[in-house]
Amino acid sequence: MTDSNTVVTPSVEPQKTNLLGFNRAQMEAFFASIGEKPFRAGQVMKWIHQQGVDDFNAMTNLAKSLREKLLRVAEVRAPEVTYKHFSADGTRKWVIKVAENAMVEMVLIPDGERKTLCVSSQVGCALDCSFCSTGKQGFMRDLTAAEIIAQVWIANRSYLQEGEFSGRNASGELTRTRAITNVVMMGMGEPLLNLDAVIPAMQIMLDDFAYGLSKRRVTLSTSGVVPMLDKLTQTMDVSLAVSLHAPNDELRNELVPINKKYPLSELMAACRRWLVHHQGSEVGRRKVTMEYVMLAGVNDQPEHARQLAQLLKDVPSKINLIPFNPFPHAPYASTPRDKVVLFQNQLIRAGFTCTIRTTRGDDIDAACGQLVGKVKDRTRRAERWQAKTLNKNEIYRAEG
Ligand code: SAH
Ligand code: SF4
Repeated sequence: MTDSNTVVTPSVEPQKTNLLGFNRAQMEAFFASIGEKPFRAGQVMKWIHQQGVDDFNAMTNLAKSLREKLLRVAEVRAPEVTYKHFSADGTRKWVIKVAENAMVEMVLIPDGERKTLCVSSQVGCALDCSFCSTGKQGFMRDLTAAEIIAQVWIANRSYLQEGEFSGRNASGELTRTRAITNVVMMGMGEPLLNLDAVIPAMQIMLDDFAYGLSKRRVTLSTSGVVPMLDKLTQTMDVSLAVSLHAPNDELRNELVPINKKYPLSELMAACRRWLVHHQGSEVGRRKVTMEYVMLAGVNDQPEHARQLAQLLKDVPSKINLIPFNPFPHAPYASTPRDKVVLFQNQLIRAGFTCTIRTTRGDDIDAACGQLVGKVKDRTRRAERWQAKTLNKNEIYRAEG
């Protein structure tokens, strides 16, 4: 029995530091803070990101005493995967739960040797573009760097676990593995409105001790938050995609409301600043990808193509026409394919590189930019299913 004067304080586990979202500098600072040498940062990052390891005990090139210390103070924690679907065409999709009622999706789309992962930066989005289902959900919260890089980590690990991309060299050491070849920040959210988390996450994508992707293979897509675009330009170099969708302010104000704050003239000027800053020795070779969703009768007329060519004449760019991905109650229809091709040809004749995005993974609604419209429904469906089965792995097997 406790005597009535004794104050019983509940034993609270000290919060462990999650190492998943640390870039190299942050990881080195963490190791310094626990009295360890900076080179441990690279070693641990390789384990986490290249080998998909989240258990310090498995990091065999660390001394046992260091592993024990890490077990006490740190962890490698990714959000829970609540739903996973691998489709017949190779497309893979995951829903991760970052908080109660807060889900984000990521999709991996294979194309030959290329495996492109579409990553989310926020839960929902505040910018409310009229054709976007994420915008219709409103904004819930920013993702942390750990939650952003976790999407790459989970997707990469799914291949590592299948053994496809892991191996050992002649000395028996695990070799570097790279299943994901490209990352596009085109999932939920506006990445420029969460730069503090997006930048470290993209630095991890580029780091040779982690995913080692080239700057050309990591693309940030933005609807045009001009001051933040300038900040990105000054901070790091990755590929840039701009969600243009309209060739004049009147129409763009309607489709992409952030345009009222940062109109096309300012956005194009910021794109030019990005191009000038990053061209360096590659003069003329960097281009901004201009995304243009084709909405029937809204922005897909020959006059729009003509205005677009005029707008972009001094902004080195390639234009990517995106078939509109419908969602319930969407006030738009997609432009018929033959009209998209006419629009494309008009831009090609005007001297632009202009492609039409192929929509792989349609069978699981995987097209980028359209990830979450049905997440809640789908997750509820998955949860109901989960309740009926013995464990999560059974769902995975049933669907995979
Ligand atoms: N917020 C950023 C990145 C996420 S959206 C941005 O807007 O760029 C990623 C891409 O998907 C954007 O080009 C966006 O315009 C596009 N997109 C959104 N809804 C879409 C839909 N219903 N059909 C096709 N593309 C869509
Ligand atoms: Fe947000 Fe991009 Fe959707 Fe616009 S298109 S609402 S910026 S996610």
